[in-house]
Amino acid sequence: MFIEPYHNQHQQKEKRTGWIEVICGSMFSGKTEELIRRLNRARIAKQEVKIFKPTVDTRYHAEDIVSHNASSVGSVPIQHPSDMLALVGNCDVVGIDEAQFFDNTVVDIANKLAESGKRVIIAGLDMDFLGNPFGPMPNLMAVAEYITKVHAVCVVCGDVANYSYRKIAVQDQVVLGETDSYEARCRKCFHL
Ligand code: ADP
Ligand code: MG
Repeated sequence: MFIEPYHNQHQQKEKRTGWIEVICGSMFSGKTEELIRRLNRARIAKQEVKIFKPTVDTRYHAEDIVSHNASSVGSVPIQHPSDMLALVGNCDVVGIDEAQFFDNTVVDIANKLAESGKRVIIAGLDMDFLGNPFGPMPNLMAVAEYITKVHAVCVVCGDVANYSYRKIAVQDQVVLGETDSYEARCRKCFHL
């Protein structure tokens, strides 16, 4: 269980340092659930929260971020990571879902937000359907203070799943889809 680092949140906003948390894992591993859990707890602590996602991810809803068990929270869809700078305002916590779809400039922007005193919580797929690192995620993990890797259940054997197995014969890195196109698999069953 991730213990939220609340250590400096009672200091004056101006004096705080921020930090970056990354939540990564395969599809269906509970990244969005965990992101929503942390954001809800921040709201309970009376912190102002802003949530963003890339416009490319419109699978369930144009604006909300939605988990596979149907919990959801309102978010602002953005084209480019730099859009966040104009939109964060004076919030305490910035949530970002599906960060793998952003380009590498998200790393610089996340650093800027953290340096301005914000807690930045970023969820994203660490690997694509081939098992290769996905987009900016490796670099985000490199600069993050905290990394949580969550796991799905392998739908073939029930073991711990680390991979997003694509069931359809399309080779593009980005194919938006759900259980129709992907399933969670463990290392052994991913290579079957
Ligand atoms: P992610 O954002 O990582 O894709 P979500 O947070 O949206 O994951 O969804 C996690 C939920 O997905 C689980 O709580 C569970 O209800 C559901 N789920 C569906 N298939 C699986 C699976 N193979 N392993 C684990 N959870 C699954
Ligand atoms: Mg998700």
